[in-house]
Amino acid sequence: MNEQSNTFETLDPQDWEQSKALMHQMVDDAFDYTKNVRDRKIWQEIPEHILNTFKTPLPQQPSNAEAVYKELQETVLPYPMGNIHPRFWAWYMGSGTISGVMGDFWASILNPNLGGGNHAAHKVEEQVISWIKEIIDFPKSASGLLVSGGSMANYAALAVARNVKAGYDIRAEGLKENNLVFYASTEIHSCNTKAVELLGLGTKGLKKIKVNDDYTINIDALKQQIQEDKANGLQPICIIGSSGTVNTGAIDNLNAIANICKDENLWFHVDGAIGAIAMLSDKVKPQLNGIERADSVALDLHKWLHMPFEVGCVMIKDSVEHRNTFSLIPEYLAKNTRGLASGDDWFSEYGLQLSRRFRALKVWMSLKEHGSDRFGRMISRNVEQAHYLGALINNNKDLELIAPIGLDIVCFRYNPGGLTLEALNILNKEIKLQIEERAIALPGYTTLNNKYCIRCAISSHRVTNEDFDVLIKSILNIGLELIS
Ligand SMILES: *Cc1c(COP(=O)(O)O)cnc(C)c1O
Repeated sequence: MNEQSNTFETLDPQDWEQSKALMHQMVDDAFDYTKNVRDRKIWQEIPEHILNTFKTPLPQQPSNAEAVYKELQETVLPYPMGNIHPRFWAWYMGSGTISGVMGDFWASILNPNLGGGNHAAHKVEEQVISWIKEIIDFPKSASGLLVSGGSMANYAALAVARNVKAGYDIRAEGLKENNLVFYASTEIHSCNTKAVELLGLGTKGLKKIKVNDDYTINIDALKQQIQEDKANGLQPICIIGSSGTVNTGAIDNLNAIANICKDENLWFHVDGAIGAIAMLSDKVKPQLNGIERADSVALDLHKWLHMPFEVGCVMIKDSVEHRNTFSLIPEYLAKNTRGLASGDDWFSEYGLQLSRRFRALKVWMSLKEHGSDRFGRMISRNVEQAHYLGALINNNKDLELIAPIGLDIVCFRYNPGGLTLEALNILNKEIKLQIEERAIALPGYTTLNNKYCIRCAISSHRVTNEDFDVLIKSILNIGLELIS
């Protein structure tokens, strides 16, 4: 074979010292990469010759790790998504933390399987889940599970809701009759629709209720729809409230929803992918009043808690119902009273995944290092920045807000006057693209009442007010260039 043929072949480094030196170099480079993020282009198109490097066939023979790293430096690092840059305001995501990176690093080195068992990693996840209970004012008796993100968290919670409220053993029997109904506003995130479809109810199993001018669910319309459905032989089972909608950051009236759920014996779920973690912010917490009354909450920790992807959390108030939905213990997973296979609460009994990554570690290390108050301050600052941006918009006659500012989300457009809706939509789309292609910033977009708008979701712990001054100046300049 080769000169190594007399050594035992494994996937460990052939030269530990050399490999360690390479890793040290990577750590140095990664710290510089993060520290200097502002100095690099937020985003750029990947050139053809680089794209071609991603199309080469399966590498059957080894190359040295230094060469692999060099390729990463040339083909991947210069073409990031941009979301760790302070001027990234598209979609909704966090910007990562170095402590989170350290946690992910050790999670991969230790490489435990969080399906269950008696080992420290399991205790770390249990502790992180208890902290999240504290954050959202849930009782200690509640149960939780770290999952890949908001989509999985909502899916898991809605599965429990369906199983509890169906009124028969739906796990054993499947759907007897397809008449179960979930309710949410028209602004509900699409992952909930997907979840209801996968739960066997079809798209029609999620009734979308109209919203008020501030994009919160219209409570009267919700009540009316429930009565109408009952009269028509349907079986309402759950209302999903949003604590921060993805379009505009609107927070539904959670107490009003909780009251309806109480009166009608429905499950109350909160999609808190954006807003639930803002319970850490003194400024936002009062707006989330009522979240503690929910039967379940979906949180996203890779959004406003800035954890490196992926980590979300599903929280269920009734741990027995949670377990009843997901627990299934075949002989090869039977527990022991002693040793590694002991312990009562295996995470695999609370979700779909058996093998699970140690995603709790980054959260545990980050919360310990920074403390929850600091994360709360970062959230409050983003909300203040949203209003700073809002003021820049309100103070300029050529700009207009398209929706009330919800949490940290600002929807607006350039409107110099005298243009049709269609012309304004084309103009604003072009402005947004030019801001992006000139690598000035990465604002997002959405369409509200047929109006295309530039949408800034300000969830970065690195962004400063000056960044918004630059954004507004650029929008005005590009807008003027385009219309003249
Ligand atoms: C992002 C988001 C989701 C989906 O979460 P993922 O982590 O992307 O799976 C669900 N609901 C809302 C309101 C969101 O903003």
